[in-house]
Amino acid sequence: PDTIKVGDFAERIKKPASEIIKKLILSGVMASINHEITFEVAEKIAEQYGILLEKEEKKDKKEVLINDFEDKEEDLKPRPPVVTVMGHVDHGKTSLLDCIRHSRVTESEAGGITQHIGAYTVDIDDNKIVFLDTPGHEAFTAMRSRGAQATDIAVLVVAADDGVMPQTIEAINHAKAAKVPIIVAINKIDKNGANPDRVKQELTEYGLIPEDWGGDTICVPVSAKTKEGIDNLLEMILLVAEMQELKANPDRPAKGIIIEAKLDKGRGPVATVLVQKGTLHIGDAIVAGTAYGKVRAMIDDKGRKVKSASPSIPVEVLGLSEVPNAGDILYCVEDDKKARQIAEINQEKQRVEYFESTSKVSLEDLYSQI
Ligand code: GDP
Ligand code: MG
Repeated sequence: PDTIKVGDFAERIKKPASEIIKKLILSGVMASINHEITFEVAEKIAEQYGILLEKEEKKDKKEVLINDFEDKEEDLKPRPPVVTVMGHVDHGKTSLLDCIRHSRVTESEAGGITQHIGAYTVDIDDNKIVFLDTPGHEAFTAMRSRGAQATDIAVLVVAADDGVMPQTIEAINHAKAAKVPIIVAINKIDKNGANPDRVKQELTEYGLIPEDWGGDTICVPVSAKTKEGIDNLLEMILLVAEMQELKANPDRPAKGIIIEAKLDKGRGPVATVLVQKGTLHIGDAIVAGTAYGKVRAMIDDKGRKVKSASPSIPVEVLGLSEVPNAGDILYCVEDDKKARQIAEINQEKQRVEYFESTSKVSLEDLYSQI
């Protein structure tokens, strides 16, 4: 018969029996740990955990649908580095990002107009570097808390006239925790009070020993104002990227990360996606958290419509059913139906998590009320 003891069922799906009993009661089934429940009832409860119950074996429905396989070494191709700029407030993160962006915009690129999509790409000869445009540790940590990592290299901006400050130390700690290599940009060297040596001295206290002092931390003196040292900084980024041997398989269904997302009056939900594996194409069925849909259009950081986006390339994606969260992972799946199914499972998971986090009713309370 297709029944299972509540206790056995709890064990099989690795959830506390008390929690299952609570869920059973909430769905109108009065059962104790030794009661048998039908497969259909068990299935409903399992679904609340995002688990697909099969008659013989249990499988995580979402994983099965997504099929996020590991790539073979021979399928991997080099991809551009993704860089985050971090540092203390007013040390010049925004100025540096603007300076790099504008120093590399060619005349032919839409009259030099760049779109703000949360990330941008610069070309250096035959190489590309991708900069995340959202400086600040929040974005960085929000993504990491979701188990996602968008960054390959952290550029730590330290003002030469101010030195290491509290948010500098925070940034160092975040980058270290994420095991992301740090390149130090000693900024504002054009200023009168600039003292790069003092900055280097202070950095050593946090384990960053400059290369010219016998350590392995690359420090580049720059000025976002005069543009001095910017080319050198970009070169150093490419050097570090080369040592990392960054690779991804471009020939598989895309997986990416949501960098930022918003609701646009005319265009609906718009999400900037940084593709991490595979290639995203127009028409692909996609899901990110509880948002799903088909890629209707893609726009790059220069405001151009594109048909595809390969690893490390950021694009605005149109066609999602709702606005996803920054840090959500985007998957390309077989068809719209699967995309919607996964989004529904994610929604159910969120609902359960929300219910569990807000529920102050204990099992005893429940029993006493009945
Ligand atoms: P953020 O808070 O780190 O993003 O810093 P901003 O980029 O907003 O810069 C803070 C202030 O420092 C602004 O007034 C900038 O004009 C100025 N600034 C940034 N970089 C330089 C630089 O290299 N030299 C000089 N003299 N000023 C700079
Ligand atoms: Mg800023």
